[in-house]
Amino acid sequence: MLQKPRGTIDILPDKSVMWQKVETILRETAATHGYGEIRLPTFEVSELYKRGVGDTSDVVQKEMYSFYDNDGRSLSLRPEGTAGVVRSVIENSLTSGAMPLPVYYLISCFRYEKPEAGRSREFYQFGAELFGAEQPCADADIILFVADIFKKLGIKDISLEINSIGCKHCRPIYNKALHEYFEARRSELCDTCLSRIDSNPLRILDCKSPICSAIAENAPKTIDYLCPECAEHFNELKSLLDAAGADYKVNPSIVRGLDYYRRTVFEFVSTAIGSQSTICGGGRYDGLVEELGGPAISGIGFAMGLTRIMLALEAQGMVEKPQTADIYFAPMDKKALTFSFTMAQKLYDMGIRADFDKVGRSLKAQMKYADKTGAKYVAVIGETEIESGEIKLKSMADSTETVVSLDAEVIAKAIGKI
Ligand code: ATP
Ligand code: MG
Repeated sequence: MLQKPRGTIDILPDKSVMWQKVETILRETAATHGYGEIRLPTFEVSELYKRGVGDTSDVVQKEMYSFYDNDGRSLSLRPEGTAGVVRSVIENSLTSGAMPLPVYYLISCFRYEKPEAGRSREFYQFGAELFGAEQPCADADIILFVADIFKKLGIKDISLEINSIGCKHCRPIYNKALHEYFEARRSELCDTCLSRIDSNPLRILDCKSPICSAIAENAPKTIDYLCPECAEHFNELKSLLDAAGADYKVNPSIVRGLDYYRRTVFEFVSTAIGSQSTICGGGRYDGLVEELGGPAISGIGFAMGLTRIMLALEAQGMVEKPQTADIYFAPMDKKALTFSFTMAQKLYDMGIRADFDKVGRSLKAQMKYADKTGAKYVAVIGETEIESGEIKLKSMADSTETVVSLDAEVIAKAIGKI
């Protein structure tokens, strides 16, 4: 038997209803906050991610699904959304329109990672970006957009952690301090981190190995090295979050895994879903648009993992049951089947979920099927019903029966649908 590739998931109809509900809330909340959807290719030229995500990142170094097409171009399945959005914003000159520009995406991403609960090789992300707004109120606003999403989704046990990782002025001084700190502890670091001491010491703070994280805990902190402008930006962000009554914690160890972040970084962490607890990560990436060949326009954004949202909702016992038929017609013969069939068509037209026997089951087996599939009402149609023009509507919830005429409007009314 052929099986799905390792690290991919099948979302079956009994689960997809929950996904649809979540996706609807995400889209509605995005609309409320003024974000428009952007839909982009699933693959891009590999160069985009090398430049946009960063050559030294795990994502580019180890996790990309890259391939050569028939023309010998190196393409990669998108490992994340931001680089593609920035590419598109530049290519379509969106920054020459009204600014700031708010966009969101709902996509699947691909990373060659070790699959576990909350981590797969194809995964789903909802993310948003706000271009051209540098003030701290933009940071606060997008962070609270995420908080609003969690509120609308009904996710509890989630906390907001923020940090500032400085800018091109203060980062080099911080990097130097970090470099010195890790250099003195060379012998204890993992191989990957060793190679990062010179290229990107900030990355070491993000290493998942317990030894490296223990060393990282006492490393110099970005917030102690911020230049006056970055410090003021961060302070203003905190006062705006306070003004909005938001709960948050400053966590100096958040640096985010991707190369292009500046100043504000943040995560929303759940205490309910085990070790893969970061549901959402984001930050400011002033400089990325320019880096990818566009104008010097700032950006701030976030991405959240849908699988982890589902895990959090499931942990809270939230389930969404698939819709079942509002009414099931059980025909006793061929003529009754035609009646059932045409009645179902009329009800579909009215947006009512009707069903009828499509496989020629016995009446007993039909009743069993109606029960098993959770039909709310059942109506048997036979010669008597056709002659009298009346059917008995049986409520499956309490077995009560109501006689109504064999008429779509009347039936719809009787089952409470109009
Ligand atoms: P992590 O530290 O968990 O690997 P990350 O820093 O690589 O996360 P981002 O690139 O910021 O994650 O992606 C944003 C969100 O997308 C994460 O917070 C997570 O919810 C989700 N995500 C990332 N990678 C995966 C994956 N392989 N499987 C499922 N969800 C993922
Ligand atoms: Mg990762």
